[in-house]
Amino acid sequence: MKDKRPKVCIVGGGPSGLMAAWVLAVDFEVHLFEKEKMAGQKFLVAGKGGLNITRDLPANDLIANYSPPGFIDEAIRNFDSSSLRKWLEAMQIETFTGSSGKVFPVKGLTPSDVLKAITNELTGRGVIFHLNHKLESFSDEMVFTFSNPEGVFKEIYDFALFAFGGASWPQTGSDGKWTAMFNTAGIKTSVFQPSNCGVNIVWPDAIRQHHEGKPLKNISVRSGDLVSKGEALITTYGLEGSAIYPIIPAIRNQLKEGSVPEISIDLKPFNSLDSLLARAPKGRAGTKEYAHAFNLNGQEMALLKSFSNKEAFSDPLNFAGLVKSLTVPVHSLRPLDEAISSVGGLDMNEIDHDLSLKKYPKIFVAGEMLDWDAPTGGFLLQGCFATGHYAATCLHKKARGIPQALSED
Ligand SMILES: Cc1cc2nc3c(=O)[nH]c(=O)nc-3n(C[C@H](O)[C@H](O)[C@H](O)COP(=O)(O)OP(=O)(O)OC[C@H]3O[C@@H](n4cnc5c(N)ncnc54)[C@H](O)[C@@H]3O)c2cc1C
Repeated sequence: MKDKRPKVCIVGGGPSGLMAAWVLAVDFEVHLFEKEKMAGQKFLVAGKGGLNITRDLPANDLIANYSPPGFIDEAIRNFDSSSLRKWLEAMQIETFTGSSGKVFPVKGLTPSDVLKAITNELTGRGVIFHLNHKLESFSDEMVFTFSNPEGVFKEIYDFALFAFGGASWPQTGSDGKWTAMFNTAGIKTSVFQPSNCGVNIVWPDAIRQHHEGKPLKNISVRSGDLVSKGEALITTYGLEGSAIYPIIPAIRNQLKEGSVPEISIDLKPFNSLDSLLARAPKGRAGTKEYAHAFNLNGQEMALLKSFSNKEAFSDPLNFAGLVKSLTVPVHSLRPLDEAISSVGGLDMNEIDHDLSLKKYPKIFVAGEMLDWDAPTGGFLLQGCFATGHYAATCLHKKARGIPQALSED
């Protein structure tokens, strides 16, 4: 018997598209198109160092981590981290809260187990997967043109939801090429740029040769108005790691303004300047005395030596100041391809508050394809799942003729 439910196509098989399919599966005939041979490849990559799926925070504290302000508030309030955890638990994916409130699937569950649980659930709910199918174009008349290895075909849908992703790690399928299709359709996009990425620093040879691969642990890093605590790894090209990612927006802004970005590193964030001054060697001192007095390791001493002048280094009181605030110039950001996430993509002015396209009101959008930013550490996936859920919920309401997307049943 012919399915009488409205037909919706979801394009993009990442976390936001999968979540949207779950929301819509009962009341719609849902077709999920993914251009790669499998869905969720970036999700699997995200799980390589431990799948940090969300952050154990109340909605308002989660919201504070997203920019631009406002766009995601309703989505997060409707589907916050406890909703995400309950959703996963209903599929036998138990989670736990680790250090700093980061949430992970429990030990023994791999990212591929999580993905499998979600796709099995969707198949069980009747979602029809079309892998190796790339969306090539769409029209006002809701005609969608797809290509697959056999050729090109057109299909009409009542509604659509796009979740194409950003443009980092293009080998996972999220290559950002969809922007050309949007521009042809008269929709503005902006150029993708790296976020949550490492920074290039012109290291002196002494650092590159002797300290590559060594960590700077328990540091605090500042750039512009942004401060973050954590760890950074010294690499051949510069610095990478949890302390660096949250300050990338400030560095990106400085690069955009044409200035040379600087980061200020506090190597002893748990010690006040006064307490360091009290520990400072008396009289002139050298590397050995400083390392001992301030408990600094080889890589920290090498940084202090490389980014200070002789006078500042040899005066213990000045040196204590350097330990608290060492200025290191940043050359540039690492390439988009290797960033954890991207900014840019769909211009926020092109979308309505319900995440539909203003020019194509039956088409909704979700996930990293939108021009928003958040630090890694669970906020990205939370943002993608929440916007996928919210866009699908609003689509559902529009299909039922409920005019106000924010209204409750
Ligand atoms: C190395 C790495 C580590 C990460 N770690 C974390 C982490 O620990 N915590 C966290 O919160 N986030 C993390 N992330 C980020 C997270 O994985 C992404 O933000 C998230 O996957 C984005 O979801 P999405 O659904 O918007 O898009 P994606 O997951 O990028 O999916 C988009 C899909 O759309 C498909 N597509 C694109 N164009 C078309 C088209 N024309 N036709 C059909 N299909 C198309 C793509 O092939 C892709 O499969 C990490 C990312 C990386 C790269």
